Amino acid sequence: MECESCNNIMCEECIKSLKKRDCPSCRKEQFVFKQSILARRLIGTLPADCPNGCGEKSTIGNIDQHLRKCPLRVHVCQVDKCPFEGKKDEFLQHLVESHDLVLIRQYDATSQSTIEEENKTQEVESTEMSGKFNLNFDRVGSMRNEKGKLARLGESGKYYCGGPLETDCMCCNGYCGPGNGCNCQYCMKLDMQVRMVPKGYLVNREGAMCRKGTTSNYYCGRLCMKGVAFCDGYCGPTNGPACPSCKLINTQANDRYRNLI
Ligand SMILES: [Zn+2]
Ligand SMILES: [Zn+2]
Ligand SMILES: [Zn+2]
Ligand SMILES: [Zn+2]
Ligand SMILES: [Zn+2]
Ligand SMILES: [Zn+2]
Ligand SMILES: [Zn+2]
Repeated sequence: MECESCNNIMCEECIKSLKKRDCPSCRKEQFVFKQSILARRLIGTLPADCPNGCGEKSTIGNIDQHLRKCPLRVHVCQVDKCPFEGKKDEFLQHLVESHDLVLIRQYDATSQSTIEEENKTQEVESTEMSGKFNLNFDRVGSMRNEKGKLARLGESGKYYCGGPLETDCMCCNGYCGPGNGCNCQYCMKLDMQVRMVPKGYLVNREGAMCRKGTTSNYYCGRLCMKGVAFCDGYCGPTNGPACPSCKLINTQANDRYRNLI
């Protein structure tokens, strides 16, 4: 929460416990606190380990995305009123042991209508796309980009559709992903929307947010350049040498991603 008159950021609990309704920072009486977007963004970047214990290291902002595809997530049995809940292996074993007949019937039925079903799903997805967010999540964390292509989260934490890149870069094979590297402008737009990047920011090919410093080079501010001459080990953040991924963004910001800045 943030004070409307002095922009002092405070946590909600502390505000509730204040005796007088005046801001402890600027002393304005009857102050109004509003949700702080900056604080939200910062909180989103705090580290968070997967609560299922799969070993995934993520951030508070990204953990939801991981939980949807976590290998240790809990499955709830959907057959009739069966009370079973369990992790993937236990769940599969339970299905085979307790519901084998249902499984077989279900399999016979779906293998005939799979194609019809797939087409129906596509229709639902495009209706959702015209909704107010213009974003389209599915259950495994993939999204449809503005060009209508399905883009998946790669190991770099960026989205990739596998389509051709609009411009050549020395670093890639000419395609958007599919697992890492540079992405096309439409998938970059997804990266930016999902991370709610502030104006002027892009997401470099390693998945780090970066922006222009005082030198007009892009910098991600990561401690990724230990041992580089004339460098404190950090990429920027405002001047000095930039990491290889940010150097590439310098060029790409002027061609492939120029419509996004
Ligand atoms: Zn507090
Ligand atoms: Zn204040
Ligand atoms: Zn996990
Ligand atoms: Zn069951
Ligand atoms: Zn793409
Ligand atoms: Zn590249
Ligand atoms: Zn960098």
